[in-house]
Amino acid sequence: MIEVRNLKKHFVTKNSLFGDEPEVIHAVNGIDFTVGNGETLGLVGESGSGKSTTGRLVLRLLEPTSGSILLDGKDISTISSRDFRKIRKDLQMVFQNPYSALDYKMTIEDILIQPLQIHKIVPPLEYKTEVYRLLDLVGLDKASARKFPHEFSGGQRQRIGIARALSTKPRFIVCDEPVSALDVSVQSQILNLTMDLQKEFGLSYLFIAHDLHVIKHVSDQVAIMYLGKIVETGNSEELFNRPMHPYTKALLAAVPGQGEHKLLGGRRLEGEIPSSIKLPDGCAFHTRCPYAMDICKESIPILTEREGRKVACHLYP
Ligand code: ADP
Ligand code: MG
Repeated sequence: MIEVRNLKKHFVTKNSLFGDEPEVIHAVNGIDFTVGNGETLGLVGESGSGKSTTGRLVLRLLEPTSGSILLDGKDISTISSRDFRKIRKDLQMVFQNPYSALDYKMTIEDILIQPLQIHKIVPPLEYKTEVYRLLDLVGLDKASARKFPHEFSGGQRQRIGIARALSTKPRFIVCDEPVSALDVSVQSQILNLTMDLQKEFGLSYLFIAHDLHVIKHVSDQVAIMYLGKIVETGNSEELFNRPMHPYTKALLAAVPGQGEHKLLGGRRLEGEIPSSIKLPDGCAFHTRCPYAMDICKESIPILTEREGRKVACHLYP
């Protein structure tokens, strides 16, 4: 349904500390993926790896530097904004922070009516019934309609964010770390809700997380992202049971109870994610990789089909 081909986004900024030399941030550096009808692709990586930029590119909230984004085989990255407006309602987003994503001065009813109005989803006479239907879908009662965002808990606010995304009857939703800001006890409720809604409406998700653990139960396919590139991708279960890329192993090892030492053979990941302004030569991960070899410093590994998934690593020549 959604297909992304060699997508790139480079931000050019000025570094005021060192004169006015422009700097190029390689936020998304040539990625490919597809999300099938009714499927979830989990996109995982540390903070700064380019996940949110990817999500915003797909929804055309950002202009790509190059590459294409296809919806049902049609390139939506180059169509006019007039044509894009017609499909805008099919593509929605749920944000990480339910606190800032909702306008605190508006009632829940007004928050939900706004997209109904803009996209002419139902006639004005039906706004109220539609608001109640949306609230019911996400497990909130009718009385919620008259309240303001501050009167709700974090989990309830995320339910409202989901109701707002559903209001336009979308087919595809980018969920950008929708549970990261929530208490662990509430996370699984919201994850279950997103999966129930997916089943009911046949939704497709690009589900972003920095924690592999969160992705496991919701994803059909998983793509692991590091410094703007996908380093490993494949069927969710296979990736969890048999990770191949050292970065995937490190992410799995960071999950409590996954046995860090066994996965990485007693080795550890060193240091922090490098700046995406000055990317390391060769494999961008070699500066932290416990298995790095000479070739990793010189040549960029290509994402290649291996044992039922794709992996970009010189360990698998
Ligand atoms: P993630 O969501 O994985 O944490 P982001 O997509 O937010 O990563 O960011 C990837 C990189 O792009 C980061 O280095 C970030 O600082 C940079 N970046 C994101 N948005 C912008 C922007 N609008 N202008 C300049 N740099 C940006
Ligand atoms: Mg992000």
